[in-house]
Amino acid sequence: MIHKLLILGNPVTITTEAGSGSIDFALPREVCPSCEFGKCFNDCDGSQGADENNKETEEYVLARRSYNASLDVIESLMLAHACAGIKVDDPKYVEGIEATFLASVELLATVSEANKLLREDALREDALRENALRENAKGSDQQFVLKDRVRTLSLLSGLEVFQRRENGKNVFDFYAPEKIAVKSCFTYPKAKLFAEGVWFGRTSQQ
Ligand SMILES: [Zn+2]
Repeated sequence: MIHKLLILGNPVTITTEAGSGSIDFALPREVCPSCEFGKCFNDCDGSQGADENNKETEEYVLARRSYNASLDVIESLMLAHACAGIKVDDPKYVEGIEATFLASVELLATVSEANKLLREDALREDALRENALRENAKGSDQQFVLKDRVRTLSLLSGLEVFQRRENGKNVFDFYAPEKIAVKSCFTYPKAKLFAEGVWFGRTSQQ
């Protein structure tokens, strides 16, 4: 005997014969966005074609799997009832099944919304991290420029040069051997003028 049912718009066909049976065109399962398997637990690792943003949160995977399991239960129950001779195409029976199915759908929808929010959070965090990395790279560029400036000043003046920050400005301290402080210059242009003066003095003496 063949029972053709429509459960919330989803065609379900139950075939029974002498106490046993089968169920086809079953209720729609929720699948992994990457591998399209209902039972996948983030283990395909998104390597099957889905992009990073498609990844599910652990919470969602759990919900998806229990949703699928609840549909397994609903279908087994319907099949068992059909085999036992219960009129599974009775509108009242279908109504009961639909209510159960709907409860599962709603539960998944709640977690799905949470999953979406979590995913958006993760994306936002990624963006922030990238920004921080970019800022960091900019910072190390500045460090590099400063090191180069200190080297230039030292080469010009023949003195030891140290750079430090004071009141938000770069200060360049010149030292003669044995740590004798020679001069401190605020800003690089001033330090360079001084270093060039020293260089000129040194070269004109030779
Ligand atoms: Zn998968």
